[in-house]
Amino acid sequence: EPGLYVVSTPIGNLGDITLRALQTLTGADVIACEDTRVSRVLTNHYAIDTRLLAYHDHNAEKQRPKLLQMLADGAAVALISDAGTPLISDPGLKLVAESLDAGHRVVPIPGASALLAATVAAGLATDTVLFAGFLPNKGGPRQRRIEALAGIPASLVFYESPNRLAAGLKDLAEVLGADRPAAVARELTKKFETVRRGTLGDLAEGYAGESVKGEIVIVVAPPGEIAETEIDIDAALAEALSRSGA
Ligand code: SAM
Repeated sequence: EPGLYVVSTPIGNLGDITLRALQTLTGADVIACEDTRVSRVLTNHYAIDTRLLAYHDHNAEKQRPKLLQMLADGAAVALISDAGTPLISDPGLKLVAESLDAGHRVVPIPGASALLAATVAAGLATDTVLFAGFLPNKGGPRQRRIEALAGIPASLVFYESPNRLAAGLKDLAEVLGADRPAAVARELTKKFETVRRGTLGDLAEGYAGESVKGEIVIVVAPPGEIAETEIDIDAALAEALSRSGA
């Protein structure tokens, strides 16, 4: 079937790939991937010999028209990223949008993502979750982004690099409040997988002097209790005022 297939691949453990993903990659005419050396490990492991074509931030403008032409010619194009689900802090959005604009079929082949893996392992509210991706590196924009997220009644999920983890937790604790529950999920699905839970303040302190390696997701609980108390107070006040005839 021609179309653009957005295929999730593992986030560490090579076993985390669906049967449908393997069938799709095997049957595709071409696999667009970020780094052919990274994706070759996966395709070799599963004996997939579909041609790999590099599609990353630096060549996307040049490659996209070629991929769109292949789609127009009736090809099945699979899009994967180095790990997890494409478009989730990874390239692919413009390719998907332009494929849809051109009338091509876009088919998601769902699977692993650090976003969902961390969300379900954090032990924090899962009914409303906001994916915040990577924070900006620089002070001002970074501060403003965290401030914009502070009051949102949702668990917040951040991707973070290991060398910025301590600083990131400190910034989050300062703006969101040191007492907000959070979790740091590291190396999910891999040998040294860990999930550390605590308040943002405790976690910031705990990681302060530590040199951390590996891939990291920070999950922060919603400002739940505080918001609920505020709502309760407002409701109680309104009721008391109405009863007093004010
Ligand atoms: N598209 C990927 C996904 O669906 O999760 C994310 C790609 S993004 C460039 C890479 C970031 O995802 C890492 O810096 C880390 O924050 C997170 N990540 C990826 N794999 C992970 C893992 N095994 N454990 C924890 N975090 C991971």
